[in-house]
Amino acid sequence: MRAGKIIAYIVGSILVLFGVLLVWGSTGDQGSVGWIVFGIIIGGVGLVMIYLASRSSAKAADTNVTLNIDLPGNVNMDTLKCVACGGTLKPEDIKMVAGAPVVTCPWCHSTYQLTEEPKW
Ligand SMILES: [Zn+2]
Repeated sequence: MRAGKIIAYIVGSILVLFGVLLVWGSTGDQGSVGWIVFGIIIGGVGLVMIYLASRSSAKAADTNVTLNIDLPGNVNMDTLKCVACGGTLKPEDIKMVAGAPVVTCPWCHSTYQLTEEPKW
């Protein structure tokens, strides 16, 4: 994830550089108007890549904080109990961490990942 972001930054920077060089070169002896359009497109793609790379990290961090609890359908909240102390858990006690539901028990303060186990 982080490596992909760095690659996106590097490739984006190179694309912007190439775009600028193409627009620059279009004014030269061997340049043509088509270079300007091509350069703007390449530079634009590069800028979008850098923008998305910088945005993806902020979005991911934001998602971890504000993501609404979206549990798998087969988890019944009415019967959800803490595996450590058996205390009844509320939806507020479950937070999404790295895409997995993590339970923080309000009674015994134990923290564990919620697994989809068959009901008994
Ligand atoms: Zn507990």
